[in-house]
Amino acid sequence: MLLKSLGLFIFAITFCGCGDFSSERGGLKGIEEGLTGPSHEEIAAAIPIIDLHADTVLYLASSNPASISSSKLEAGLVNLQKGRYGAQVYVAWVAPEYRPTGFKRANALIDTLQKVVGGNPSTMAISKNAKEIEQRFGEKKISAILGIEGGEAIHEDLNNLDYFYNRGVRYMTLTWNSHNAIADASQDSEMPWNGLSPFGEKVIKRMNELGMLVDISHTSDATVEDVVTISQDPIIASHSNSFTLCDHPRNLRDDLIKKICERGGVIGVNFNTGFLVTGASSTTVKNLANHIDKIVQLGSIECPALGSDFDGSIRPPQDLSNASQLSNLTKELVKRGYSAADIEKIYGRNILRILKLVVGE
Ligand SMILES: [Zn+2]
Repeated sequence: MLLKSLGLFIFAITFCGCGDFSSERGGLKGIEEGLTGPSHEEIAAAIPIIDLHADTVLYLASSNPASISSSKLEAGLVNLQKGRYGAQVYVAWVAPEYRPTGFKRANALIDTLQKVVGGNPSTMAISKNAKEIEQRFGEKKISAILGIEGGEAIHEDLNNLDYFYNRGVRYMTLTWNSHNAIADASQDSEMPWNGLSPFGEKVIKRMNELGMLVDISHTSDATVEDVVTISQDPIIASHSNSFTLCDHPRNLRDDLIKKICERGGVIGVNFNTGFLVTGASSTTVKNLANHIDKIVQLGSIECPALGSDFDGSIRPPQDLSNASQLSNLTKELVKRGYSAADIEKIYGRNILRILKLVVGE
């Protein structure tokens, strides 16, 4: 739990759904009318449940590594299996102390993940696109998808972006908490670029060419505006919430949520209490569902996804303390009137859609 805090202080809306949200999904209409909804098991059988962001690799790579099968890992194999997940994005995070050696550090974390996944061939596999995720889902294996958190990993060299793509990395979060050569970050006192840097614009262009998802979580508002304008592909916020509901700089303003969703992007809701309710000491899945409601209201049902941030030193909701308890969120969404088709989109189909569009088959 402490690894990440150590030493830091730190398609357009052609789909209907948003306009009639309040009448179809608002409040407790489902319960009031005595309607029953889908079970978590039914959702998990219909689609691979996918989460866009976990820091689990940090624990696997520490000097006293945890086993991927340890139930102490919030998004480890055991808890993912209990929660009926189909895929998890595991990020290689370039922590501040590794900035000068970010390329080496990201590679070391990817090496670790590949070794761990390779050691569990009957239950896990690295997947690089939607087709592979769906194939592994059919084989009852959990896909590990590679992401990089922190553009310091490419050391201001586009060739390194190509290198990581060839290693299987399918998204890169442009910054962590401080600005870098690519862009400004949301929790930084200095914002030298006022958004993306000139090099950052080249990075977006190359990511579009490669078919690598651009992740704007952690970046500044001006960076998000630049990226949604410049990127030819829809983008993701892998683990971010609504600023209107919780005014933390890590969260997204309404207008930015609208822009990301309007352009076919996907926003993974972050399970961290600090990003769910301002000043709260604890939260529940109700608070998390409020952020999903907000993203649907501002965008559409095509936009929200899961982006837990598990194993990233977070304080998760009391009733969603690790991946094994995802069914509690499902029950809450059913109570709010979300249909099976809606929950399937939030839990997997939206991510599969953007992967197919940006990464390809
Ligand atoms: Zn993060």
